Amino acid sequence: MSGPETVTSTAVPFRPGVLELEGNGGGRLIGSRCPACGAHFFPAREVCPGCLEQDMERVPLSGQGSLYTYTVVRQSAPGFPVPYLLGYVDLPEGVRVLGQLAGLSQDEARIGMALALTVQPVGTDEEGREIIGYSFRPSAEGDRDD
Ligand SMILES: [Zn+2]
Repeated sequence: MSGPETVTSTAVPFRPGVLELEGNGGGRLIGSRCPACGAHFFPAREVCPGCLEQDMERVPLSGQGSLYTYTVVRQSAPGFPVPYLLGYVDLPEGVRVLGQLAGLSQDEARIGMALALTVQPVGTDEEGREIIGYSFRPSAEGDRDD
């Protein structure tokens, strides 16, 4: 995963290779899939911890998931306003992703609720390019049955 990268946009992911940005302002998380046993991982791994396969595939992951658990962060690094919600989100591929929860309060957060990945600028780098991060928001599809 080293070597020169061609920058085709003025926006860059907060960490190389983690996000695939789409032209419509959306984005997908990039994980890896084991071609031998079918397991998915995020962040992407070079070797499958289940079967030691080394020829892992890079694949975009689902943008929809459900909230596994969350916490309220009340102390953080400079530049990150508190409090905010931080949660683990289960994706259909069997991957559990850590991310900030946006667009809902602590009172509104419920284990198992449907969430959708969103991408947004989180700052600019020293070259003036937008740095893009991700968070999870209540899904438009919702799970309002309960
Ligand atoms: Zn495997």
